[in-house]
Amino acid sequence: MTDHVRPRPGTTAVWAGEEERRAGAPTQVPMVGSVSFGYRDLEDWMSVARGERPGHIYGRNTNPTVAAFEEKVRQLEGAGAATSFATGMAAIAGTFWALLEPGRRVVSTRDTYGGTSVVFTDHLPRWGVDTVLCETEATEEIEAEIARGCDLLYLESPTNPTLKVLDLARLAEAGRRVGATVVVDNTFATPLNQSPLALGAHLVIHSATKFLGGHADALGGVVCGDAEFVRRVFRFREITGASLHPEAAYLLLRGLKTLALRIGRQNESALRIARWLEGAEGVTAVHYPGLPSHPAHAVATRQMRGFGGVLSFALKGGMAAVRRFLPALRWAHLAANLGAVETVAGTPATTSHVECTPEERAALGIPEGLVRYSVGIEDPEDLLADLEQALAAARVRGG
Ligand SMILES: *Cc1c(COP(=O)(O)O)cnc(C)c1O
Repeated sequence: MTDHVRPRPGTTAVWAGEEERRAGAPTQVPMVGSVSFGYRDLEDWMSVARGERPGHIYGRNTNPTVAAFEEKVRQLEGAGAATSFATGMAAIAGTFWALLEPGRRVVSTRDTYGGTSVVFTDHLPRWGVDTVLCETEATEEIEAEIARGCDLLYLESPTNPTLKVLDLARLAEAGRRVGATVVVDNTFATPLNQSPLALGAHLVIHSATKFLGGHADALGGVVCGDAEFVRRVFRFREITGASLHPEAAYLLLRGLKTLALRIGRQNESALRIARWLEGAEGVTAVHYPGLPSHPAHAVATRQMRGFGGVLSFALKGGMAAVRRFLPALRWAHLAANLGAVETVAGTPATTSHVECTPEERAALGIPEGLVRYSVGIEDPEDLLADLEQALAAARVRGG
């Protein structure tokens, strides 16, 4: 992309990573399934192997379709480099294994994605990495814990499924002060709504499975940011092999082209639905950073350009009401994913924290009787009407 015209995100989402135009060449990035890439000249092959010349050798290391996907995300996040993984969890775990070693100390919060918190509680300790999980909204407690020593600061905002918001600039600064590597899971916000690198993070991670792909038909993960850190993460991934499949990269690339359209619509619809739910009968709490009633609304307004497509809410009557409410929804998949073009609903026990036992969810402060609602791109009037009738169905025998 030419330097003098820096495109806006909607243009970047469409063109980045695929702007090379050659006469007669396909306009679309092809799905290259080939495992290896051949050479006629040994010197040529060696110069690619030494990294002196661009090119691909073996699919576990690099692949042209996968590289186009990485480039698109790199530009969307304004990162120095990007590398990809088979899933979001592979990206998260791979980043830890690449950057940590025995004796290191990680500071994070209790409300990270369920799989991530299992890595913190079950796996990092086995490798001699000390992990401290702070109360998510206790900014001063997190800062104090960072000041006690921190090699890697791991943040997620907004959180899954209670939509808590961390002050990313303030915490990143605290991390940088003690020399920590600052890593942010930006899955919920997407690069359209939030730019953690501009707020001080070294690395940004996405489960591309969610909003980046947007169609719930491909798993993927991506890590981008400071080129030196990304290089270390890539070195680990190319050896351990959790590489993104080219077919998944192809689907993710196609999904990414409409990112700005989808996120714009989902931001608008989610805000409208959250406002409506706040006054709805039978709803006892609504969690959405765009609501003035959200405890960190001011922080969210400062660090986000839109509040995202996911909200959660509690029903009067608890889990019994949730059991009646969810199956009554007409325009929602009851499923574990989020960020898709279809609306998706579920509970923490079946979605974000399916990896945890009930005891672990309780210990993490994750309420069972909560509905997580990922707003799709349907007409919001239909979603509001659907919520209204499902709330009525939930009230029938409960109250
Ligand atoms: C889904 C999710 C992940 C894990 O991603 P996978 O692609 O399912 O491995 C990590 N973080 C957040 C916030 C998520 O929502």
